[in-house]
Amino acid sequence: MIRSKLIFLLLFLLVATYSSALTLQPLKGVTVLLDPGHGGTDSGAIGPTGLKESDTNLRVAKYLKTLLEADGAEVFMTRENDRSLTLGERVEIASRLSPDLFVSIHHNASLKPRKTNRSEIYYNALDQGLSQRAGQFMIDRLESFGFGEESLIVPGGFFVLRNNPAPSVLSEGSYISIPEIEKQLKTGKALTNQAEALRQAIRETFSNGPLKIKLFASETPVKIDTPYFNFIFTASKPVTRVRARLTGAEQPRFGFDLLPPIGNTYRLYNSNPLKSGEYVLQLTFYAKDGTVAPRISLPLLVNLPFGTGRIRGVAPYVPAGFCGKFPVIIDLHDQDGNLNQRSVPLAIFYGKNQELITKSDADGRTLILLDLKGDEKHPLEVRAVHDSEILAQTFIPVRKPEKRFVLGKVMMPDQTGLAGVRIDYGLKYLITEKGGYFFMEYPMIYDNMKLNLVPPPGFAETETWIKTSGVPVFYQNIALMPVSANLLGKKIAVMAPASFDPTVKSLIDDLNYLGAGVNRLSMPENMANPEYQAAIEINLDKSINLVISVKSEKIAQINARHYHRGGKGKMIADRLAKELQNSPSGLKINVTPGSDYEISHTGATTIVLAFPEKMPPGSMELVLKHLVNILKSSF
Ligand SMILES: [Zn+2]
Repeated sequence: MIRSKLIFLLLFLLVATYSSALTLQPLKGVTVLLDPGHGGTDSGAIGPTGLKESDTNLRVAKYLKTLLEADGAEVFMTRENDRSLTLGERVEIASRLSPDLFVSIHHNASLKPRKTNRSEIYYNALDQGLSQRAGQFMIDRLESFGFGEESLIVPGGFFVLRNNPAPSVLSEGSYISIPEIEKQLKTGKALTNQAEALRQAIRETFSNGPLKIKLFASETPVKIDTPYFNFIFTASKPVTRVRARLTGAEQPRFGFDLLPPIGNTYRLYNSNPLKSGEYVLQLTFYAKDGTVAPRISLPLLVNLPFGTGRIRGVAPYVPAGFCGKFPVIIDLHDQDGNLNQRSVPLAIFYGKNQELITKSDADGRTLILLDLKGDEKHPLEVRAVHDSEILAQTFIPVRKPEKRFVLGKVMMPDQTGLAGVRIDYGLKYLITEKGGYFFMEYPMIYDNMKLNLVPPPGFAETETWIKTSGVPVFYQNIALMPVSANLLGKKIAVMAPASFDPTVKSLIDDLNYLGAGVNRLSMPENMANPEYQAAIEINLDKSINLVISVKSEKIAQINARHYHRGGKGKMIADRLAKELQNSPSGLKINVTPGSDYEISHTGATTIVLAFPEKMPPGSMELVLKHLVNILKSSF
């Protein structure tokens, strides 16, 4: 009797503590990282009477921290005082802590005077699960606390969002640039209200607790020697979906399956075979109730056993008496026939006891230069050995050339060989191989042969005469000159509505011709805010040097707009205006800082060219030609 009473009491206590944990500590087990924007030398936006955004962000974050801790959450801050912190450092803290939610706190400013306030929430565009869910609750709560009616929620590509492994949002609580709002932000009430709104939203987001995943991986990187992997994980609540992205090496076709769980244990395996190489597997887990676990990045090292290898000379035979470096190419395959994409030590044995130690290239195709002394008489044996296993072997015949031949190399000015160059000669053509090497033969009756080199974009077409004076030509190094070294390797994104295409296409051709890689971003004209998607694409591709945005507006004069703090965009816009005014056209351009979405929401230098709807024919083409000319010397 006493015993059952005791059990009853224990049960009662358990139930009581459990339910009070639910009501008093709704965020128990949830980890939140708060990121007050700016700080130190970077004050962010400044209100009309001098209120700093960085201070305001910090004050809101501190209130929010106290509130979330009262709810039982574990709260971290990227900064707790007025100090400078780079965007990279903020993301680094998020990667280290893997919080269940990352909240960056900012206040907005507008160049154009704004009368009405509004809140803007940006959620991590790469994660439409928890980030979007939290963002939606935040915008709802901020609205109910009176932070403006036309509030916006937008998928964002800001640095701290797109590089964040955790579900993440960036809040622009209100406009510090509006005098009335600035005044409110100086008093406690507007700050505590904002913190309270965000706290309630975070409570709603995690109303069923966070999703915690435990992945069973014995080591990192995970080493795999079959084309398939198999991962086991446990989840704190039912998982309905896993998103898996594979990055690195040359990406194989990738698919995977999630097996139905046994209890809380799940099994994940890939449905397409992997090739050898180094990858990173990024996993995002989605629970039934909409919560998401922080993204897990797992390095994979796939080492499939070698299958057949192949060795071939760039030339089909060794010309008798050849003295110098003789290029051969070694292809290493996996057992399933794909090129083996990993770098391994290789020992190359050739001819009489000659040995060369090297490493295979990670793309599976390796160029080797054999040092020949001119004394090869028998077929030249070449062997590639890894771990005392012969991966490839061949015999290259040695014979007296019956035709004139050229064993040559096409190079860039820095002496690196250039593959993929088309060489037209006589009625034939060839394409240069890895390292820029090529081999050609032509009849003895011609002493000289003209070669036309058709290089990839960015290099000038070149012709060259091969002069033999009756003896075989061995090495002919042909240096290709870039059309403009300045734009070679630069990446430029062009944003414009589809209806501008003929003009934009010729802009892209001009930029390509100068060696730039150009990314044409689609801007569907039937969408309300097509620039949102384009800006995300720009942010995801971190290597873009310049964004050119071309648009049409109800304005009287052509506008060139740049980032408000100036920089390269302003420099280009100023030069464009000056050169056009001095040109025979005398065309006038108005240069101003801009608040265009792509200017304020991308990390790249951005120049916006806005054209009036009615313009003399050819004006847009003329402006773009001048722009290309300026870009030649702008990098
Ligand atoms: Zn800010």
